Amino acid sequence: MQKKIDFSRYTSIKIGPVKDVYLIEDIEQLRENIFLVGGGNNLLISPNPPSLAMLSKKFDFIKDDGCDLHVGAATIGGKLLSYAKKHDIGGFELLQKLPGTLGGIVKMNAGLKEFCISDNLKSVLTCKGWIEKKDINFSYRSSGIEGVIYEILFERQAGFDYERLEVFKNMRKNQPSNSSAGSCFKNPLNDYAGRLLEQAGFKGKRIGNMAFSDIHANFLINLGGGTYDDAMNLIKEAQKAVLEKFGIKLELEIKVI
Ligand SMILES: Cc1cc2nc3c(=O)[nH]c(=O)nc-3n(C[C@H](O)[C@H](O)[C@H](O)COP(=O)(O)OP(=O)(O)OC[C@H]3O[C@@H](n4cnc5c(N)ncnc54)[C@H](O)[C@@H]3O)c2cc1C
Repeated sequence: MQKKIDFSRYTSIKIGPVKDVYLIEDIEQLRENIFLVGGGNNLLISPNPPSLAMLSKKFDFIKDDGCDLHVGAATIGGKLLSYAKKHDIGGFELLQKLPGTLGGIVKMNAGLKEFCISDNLKSVLTCKGWIEKKDINFSYRSSGIEGVIYEILFERQAGFDYERLEVFKNMRKNQPSNSSAGSCFKNPLNDYAGRLLEQAGFKGKRIGNMAFSDIHANFLINLGGGTYDDAMNLIKEAQKAVLEKFGIKLELEIKVI
């Protein structure tokens, strides 16, 4: 089954074409040249992307067996956070204002500071079967998981932590509210992409209707009607300037497709 999606509305950065997307209804091995879209919160989609696929609603579920939580990869983080709050389950507080589906969140090993989604994860279901955490190479904003994630198994820890929730809320105070795809670049080892961008003069720098935020330099924001080309020009200019000034090659955190 196919679904037509306007990616200039669907993605959080509000850029992209209208495209037919293949809806995945069952566990299958996806062809290699098809890109899988989750919630579109970490994507910059070009006018001519490769073929795209998405999980259907069949993978939007939370099953609680009292010992573990089985979560479908199309489930959005906010839904799992609400479930955890309601049932006094700990370990999901970082999902507060972390937009995305659990598939995308696990694939990116998304998180905040030293906390990440893999912390209380037990295993992941792909078309090759269940993969245990010890066999997954989780690292900073990466899981190395190949192929589609269909379901995730989390340990059910007692006690939702409201203090931690407050800490996460405060950490987000310096994030702009404009349309963006979150942090544009990964933080280099022992440094911050935002600091380097600011020092290289990119805080608030604008091309067309795209800019690096003047609140947080590592957020590439769409001021309204910004284009893929404007975004890519800013990204390339920033990478060049930071490399020249600091000898550091900023690596993209957002996925450009
Ligand atoms: C305002 C804002 C704040 C943010 N804050 C944070 C933050 O604090 N920390 C952080 O880490 N990120 C943050 N992000 C980025 C984003 O929330 C995460 O990267 C999240 O993981 C994206 O999930 P998604 O479902 O939208 O994935 P998408 O953006 O659609 O895709 C991201 C990647 O995941 C892959 N993917 C998606 N679904 C699956 C699946 N089922 N199986 C396998 N691969 C899949 C895609 O192919 C792609 O490679 C922020 C973004 C925004 C807009």
